[in-house]
Amino acid sequence: MDLVFFGIQGSGKGTQAKKLAEEFGYDIFEAGGELRKIQATGSELGETVRSYMSAGKLVPLDIIMRVVKEAIESYPADQKILFDGIPRDKDQKSGFNEIMSEVGRDFKCVEIKVNKEACIQRILKRAEIEGREDDADEAVIRKRMSVFEEKTMPVIEEYKSQNKVIEVDGGGKIEEIYDRLKEALNL
Ligand code: ADP
Repeated sequence: MDLVFFGIQGSGKGTQAKKLAEEFGYDIFEAGGELRKIQATGSELGETVRSYMSAGKLVPLDIIMRVVKEAIESYPADQKILFDGIPRDKDQKSGFNEIMSEVGRDFKCVEIKVNKEACIQRILKRAEIEGREDDADEAVIRKRMSVFEEKTMPVIEEYKSQNKVIEVDGGGKIEEIYDRLKEALNL
């Protein structure tokens, strides 16, 4: 069973995803990371991607779905995948669901829930360490958060109504959250 991780910017979703993947053998598909790789090539496509990412907007549907489809189709059936950063809106959800059912993969969702204001300082700190362009500017962070609230929350709600979502309290120390996460997943 694959996992799809949801959580607002700075929720610690990526940190928890990495720990879980390491301990239980998931391969992580990180949408933002894949897009950053494309951006780094400096190609025309890379420049298009950059223009959206640096503004905190979702890159166009056809671009992200091509990347996701190619990745999913390249995984062996017995390799579990942990998705981070996809789907982020209803159109991506439809595309994602379709690709997953075409290749016969099933998934559960995890929502890491954290208070929004507490996340901003964390992200600004991360920007200093990792040098991420879209993390350095508070206005861009707020834009990404509003995209999450307006576009991604409705996706989570739809999955909730299908009983596909496991909610985890993302407050506290990394290890405490991780223990809660494993308990919620019966791991
Ligand atoms: P965060 O979730 O903290 O905003 P990510 O690294 O996951 O950081 O995403 C950074 C940026 O990459 C987003 O603001 C957006 O521009 C782009 N991006 C990531 N995932 C997607 C996606 N599924 N669809 C469109 N754009 C995406």
